[in-house]
Amino acid sequence: MIVAGNLLVPSGLHECSLRPGTIRVVDGLIQQIQWDEISEHADFGGEGFLITPGFIDAHVHLPQFDLIGAHGMPLLRWLMEATFPAEAKWADVDYAKEMTGRVAKQLIGHGTTGIAAYATVHHQSAIAAIEILRSFGMHGLVGQVLMDREAPSEICRPATQLIDEAAVLQERFPTGNDSGARPLSAAVTPRFAIACTEELLIGAGRIAEQYQCFVQSHLAETQAECDLVGQLFDGRSYVSVYQDAGLLNERSIYGHGIHLSASDLTEMSESRAVIAHCPTANSFLRSGIMNRHERCEAGVRVAIGSDIGAGYHRSMVRVAAALIEAAAMIGDEFPTAAQAWHCITAGNANVLGLSEVGSIQVGHSADLVVARPNIAWLAGGADPLSMAMWAWDDRWIEEVVIRGRPSLTLS
Ligand SMILES: [Zn+2]
Repeated sequence: MIVAGNLLVPSGLHECSLRPGTIRVVDGLIQQIQWDEISEHADFGGEGFLITPGFIDAHVHLPQFDLIGAHGMPLLRWLMEATFPAEAKWADVDYAKEMTGRVAKQLIGHGTTGIAAYATVHHQSAIAAIEILRSFGMHGLVGQVLMDREAPSEICRPATQLIDEAAVLQERFPTGNDSGARPLSAAVTPRFAIACTEELLIGAGRIAEQYQCFVQSHLAETQAECDLVGQLFDGRSYVSVYQDAGLLNERSIYGHGIHLSASDLTEMSESRAVIAHCPTANSFLRSGIMNRHERCEAGVRVAIGSDIGAGYHRSMVRVAAALIEAAAMIGDEFPTAAQAWHCITAGNANVLGLSEVGSIQVGHSADLVVARPNIAWLAGGADPLSMAMWAWDDRWIEEVVIRGRPSLTLS
């Protein structure tokens, strides 16, 4: 397969730029790139097209796609009234399968080919979700949510059961080694410290250590949540609770991280743990605005996620624009479009350990979004990446290639 156009490629450490090129895809991988030439005989793309790597979403909840936009309550109420009832429906494995199929089509339709995602507490449904996402070719991580308190009893399980089930998932869907064909794996996924006893957190940390796998959870999204963590854990800091359980290292991804002290940031930086910044979810639940610049300056690794369903944009390009808006709103030194494009592609891939995706390079999995902007983005006079980002329209997407397979037929 031949794909050609203006290729989005990493430039420098944290930026992207455009370079004309023609990509040859063989057996799901990018086999060859002819730079500075746009083939007239491409299967997909051509002059005027934007070809980006498939987008990576570093924080997304599969069972929440049907509640996007549902209420805008503060986090802890929103969980009880909107989220937990939606997640309880995954007790029915057939329902979970049907929904995962729909979600996979939506993600890919919007150009997302890699995820760090949450399923629910239901073990069989989490297994089904991973298998279905694998069948679509999706990259990344999915976790069975671990919760043993502070939620309706129907979606809590005993800690010992959850720890055993997390181990079963690791045996079945291991992280695997680095290669362009690495399948989606299971991540250890305690929901957040409030919904987990210390026994469960420590057990989760033990499984993560044993299997050297990724961990994902939530951290300091709202002040009320931080206060409750203090009450539940003898006044310890939120970050320390995870640290003490062995859940803070370079393979851990924490959603939000808004309300953190300077010493929290030092702990995050030294541990190499990642914050998944979710600007749309933060504005929807009015949780606050994360100071991304401050975290980067402190040496904390920062990814970016849609956090659907508190987040309301399924397009990672829209989430990238929201990242710029959020930073600009607090007078933060805000990223350029070239940096925001990098965040949703190579940047997210790097911090999530997905070395096989995120940039257009030989040997990488062929995950490509083929878009034809209907604006004069290449006419000169303005930054084309800025124009493509702010004017972005999902209707520009003519094809999404995932592991070398054109998937536009998935509607
Ligand atoms: Zn979340």
